Amino acid sequence: MKNEKSGGGADSFDVVVIGGGPAGYPAAIRAAQNKLRVACVDEWKNRDGSAAFGGTCLNAGCIPSKALLESTELYHRVHEEFAAHGIKVGGATLDVAQMQKRKNGIVRGMTQGILALLKAAGVTALQGHGTLRAGRRVEFTAHDGTRRELSAQHVVLASGSVPIELRSAPFKAPHIVDSWGALDFETVPKRLGVIGAGVIGLELGSVWGRLGAEVVVLEALPDFLAFADQQLAREALKHFKKLGLDIRLGAKVTGAALARGAVEVSYEDAKGAQRIAVDRLVVAIGRRPYSQDLLGADSGVTLDERGFIRVDEACRTGVEGVWAIGDCVRGPMLAHKGKEEGVMVADLIAGRFGEVNYKVIPSVIYTAPEIAWVGLTEEQIKASGRDYKSGVFPFLASGRARALEQAAGFAKILAAQGDDEILGVHIIGPMAGELIAEAVLAMEYSASSEDLQRTIHAHPTLAEALHEAALAADKRSIDSINR
Ligand SMILES: Cc1cc2nc3c(=O)[nH]c(=O)nc-3n(C[C@H](O)[C@H](O)[C@H](O)COP(=O)(O)OP(=O)(O)OC[C@H]3O[C@@H](n4cnc5c(N)ncnc54)[C@H](O)[C@@H]3O)c2cc1C
Repeated sequence: MKNEKSGGGADSFDVVVIGGGPAGYPAAIRAAQNKLRVACVDEWKNRDGSAAFGGTCLNAGCIPSKALLESTELYHRVHEEFAAHGIKVGGATLDVAQMQKRKNGIVRGMTQGILALLKAAGVTALQGHGTLRAGRRVEFTAHDGTRRELSAQHVVLASGSVPIELRSAPFKAPHIVDSWGALDFETVPKRLGVIGAGVIGLELGSVWGRLGAEVVVLEALPDFLAFADQQLAREALKHFKKLGLDIRLGAKVTGAALARGAVEVSYEDAKGAQRIAVDRLVVAIGRRPYSQDLLGADSGVTLDERGFIRVDEACRTGVEGVWAIGDCVRGPMLAHKGKEEGVMVADLIAGRFGEVNYKVIPSVIYTAPEIAWVGLTEEQIKASGRDYKSGVFPFLASGRARALEQAAGFAKILAAQGDDEILGVHIIGPMAGELIAEAVLAMEYSASSEDLQRTIHAHPTLAEALHEAALAADKRSIDSINR
């Protein structure tokens, strides 16, 4: 379609973005940077009724969970690690209200920041609901009920996702909650049940487990972190168990009932019917794409059988000038994946180059030890039949990790035999989420493991673990025994 500029009327735009989460707001800002006239429509409302940009990630996901993970990890270290440093802290106590206040302050600051960024970029920020009609018209209903019709050359759909409800354990706040509810507990539950040992379940289990809750995680699948490299998954399970998370695999929840202020959870495992009682139950079995009242009957946009908006590799929906990005389309439900799709689409709309490399999207689990990976797992490479070599470096041999008193875990590099291309990197250990960025950059530029071997890493740093893992792939590690 020819990229004609909008006529310039108050309700006429070059680009209207529906959704102001980590996919939508970057799309709006980049489109404005590309000198287009842009509106961003977002309907998010917090529990106190206040409207806020930032979507799930800033209001109820990435940011509040990381704020609590940081606070609770500090509390855990005071009790479990400080003594090893020779620091004795007597009488360290917990103030959950202050922890929550700090978290809420971070969320408020960040979401207000998004509004400021949109305004500074010249984006018209509209708070309320958007529905796409035929001909790239967007019916906008503000939170106060007033309606306007917006017209656009291009519409970008970024409506995100919502938690999946389990039929056998329907949400019933405050006892049976989703991930958002679990971020708002005002006291530490004595017994916490978590359904789902995925990224969100493990992070939330860690938050409350570190503060003293007895945590039972029920996972229907027989394998732990089935989607991750299994050497890494085995190491992670060992550490989570040591930290006190009671992870029960192959446990299919069949019911959850409130009784005398507690939740009786029934499940089936290999041994038959089981039952546990918990004070709070978090259902974290995944998220589904959200598109309620987003698409008018005449919009022409279609959903697949799982409810995702159908798109091609460049996020085109097939309807001229209509694009879709983020959690509401195929691919991993991650904020940074949505952000890059938003930037790509805004650049393509402006006639510039835009691309997302779906093969190199990092994943991080912000537990302790932290877990991060990019590229293929060892199991995937084996299944592909490609010859490969593996280099593993334990943090136990890292001077920096030892100094931090956080020497659990390892860095692992998988590279092709022959051309030595890095195929996957898997890290479990301190700051794994930060360390993985080097591997992402290396893979983005098709680096070989030898490229990493020949790159100077400062000493003593955690990043040396990647350097040494690359060396270990050729049995040339200096600081660990080559096997
Ligand atoms: C507890 C938790 C922790 C997480 N941690 C991480 C993490 O550490 N790292 C990471 O990468 N990801 C994390 N995620 C996932 C991440 O939050 C999502 O991948 C990300 O928010 C998706 O961005 P999005 O813009 O596609 O959708 P969303 O963030 O869901 O935003 C969509 C926005 O569109 C609005 N909207 C929907 N329909 C309409 C409409 N018709 N009109 C107007 N507005 C509409 C919604 O109200 C919402 O504000 C986490 C998620 C949870 C729940």
